[in-house]
Amino acid sequence: MAGSCAVIGGGILGSAIAFELQGSGVETVLVERDMEAQGASAFSFASLSAFGEPQRDVYLLKAQGMIGWRQWTKSFGDALGVRWDGEIRWAENAEAAKQLDAQIEGALSRGYPVQRMSRTAIIQRLPAVQPGEVSAASYASADGQADPVRTMKVLRSAFLKQGGKLLVGKATLILTEDKVAVGVGEDRIDPERVVVAAGAETAALLDRFGWDTPMDPSPGLLVVTSPVQPTLVGAVYVFPEQGPGVHLRQLPDGRLLIGEESQEQVAKEPTMDHAERLLHQAVLSIPALRGADIDHFTVEWRPMPRDGMPIVGPLPGLGAVYVVTAHSGVTIAPALGRLVAQEIAGREQAPLLEAFRPGRFGAHQAEADMDIEEIFTAPPESFLG
Ligand SMILES: Cc1cc2nc3c(=O)[nH]c(=O)nc-3n(C[C@H](O)[C@H](O)[C@H](O)COP(=O)(O)OP(=O)(O)OC[C@H]3O[C@@H](n4cnc5c(N)ncnc54)[C@H](O)[C@@H]3O)c2cc1C
Repeated sequence: MAGSCAVIGGGILGSAIAFELQGSGVETVLVERDMEAQGASAFSFASLSAFGEPQRDVYLLKAQGMIGWRQWTKSFGDALGVRWDGEIRWAENAEAAKQLDAQIEGALSRGYPVQRMSRTAIIQRLPAVQPGEVSAASYASADGQADPVRTMKVLRSAFLKQGGKLLVGKATLILTEDKVAVGVGEDRIDPERVVVAAGAETAALLDRFGWDTPMDPSPGLLVVTSPVQPTLVGAVYVFPEQGPGVHLRQLPDGRLLIGEESQEQVAKEPTMDHAERLLHQAVLSIPALRGADIDHFTVEWRPMPRDGMPIVGPLPGLGAVYVVTAHSGVTIAPALGRLVAQEIAGREQAPLLEAFRPGRFGAHQAEADMDIEEIFTAPPESFLG
């Protein structure tokens, strides 16, 4: 075996990393607090897409993630519950159309599989839909939709089959003289490395080392309806003439998931009234949903690093702790699982992860501190030009 590792957090990221680590020959213990799937992964819209991603490194990681999902599909088959039904967006108001136009241009220039769509083409693909006047529209044919709860089960069982160990309980980190141990109730593990992949709770775990994980709390709301007749294929984003935009998709059992605006939208109004408003917005363009009832809505915390980019790598000054936290974690999970395992197993550094190192925040802070220091130590004349 090539070393030992504990992974804290059995969401989609922790499960992917534990599975890949064990497969790479690293003796791995996965520590998860809940037996039932919780956290962002269990309440995610779970679309698999790199469309509209402005940041180049994140785009590349997402694209790798989408390739990784196809590889997982080859290995695990239908058990994952992933579908490749594409994604349609259309804008009926000028502001949203301008933004969508720019996203289409950006994606086309990168060679992303996306095409412009007419209103007629939208209706041909989705006959239940009656858009208003369409000012811009896109169809991303290679985008997919995942079922993270099923995927986590599949990954965890493959991990156990490979000889990995699962500990159920709340993990705490214990700093020893030269390493970091993990406490779980009465148990204590002393691995060579610890991966912290605890989603939105990552910051709370690392706080005890004085490491201020720069994350912004970001609650996301999803409306879940009762089952309706087959109405939609793939993910659909609608930006109507008036009122908030919505994104929605139909699950295989007929229920609909409806979210507001983009994946990053902060749930400012997590109430049933607002959930009904979102359903109403969807009905404006998809009248077939008029009879749908809201079953419930969920509000879950997204792990959202302050600059929007994943945080991946060893903590500066405490290399035994490797942190992995990201938004769009479902899309990028297979890529991160593979690359993080590759680094921890000691095979090689992954260039694709360089932009995401935790040290970037420290470096910015240090630069800012130096600037401030320079201002206060510089002679007053230097401010006079
Ligand atoms: C509403 C919403 C919509 C989204 N839509 C998309 C989308 O369309 N596409 C996409 O790619 N991403 C989407 N995301 C983001 C994506 O879901 C997350 O980035 C991803 O699920 C993060 O996975 P994770 O494993 O890091 O965290 P989580 O899934 O939150 O898992 C963390 C796990 O750590 C465990 N844990 C925490 N602390 C401890 C501890 N001390 N000891 C033991 N266990 C612990 C928790 O129980 C939990 O199971 C969405 C998120 C939300 C909320």
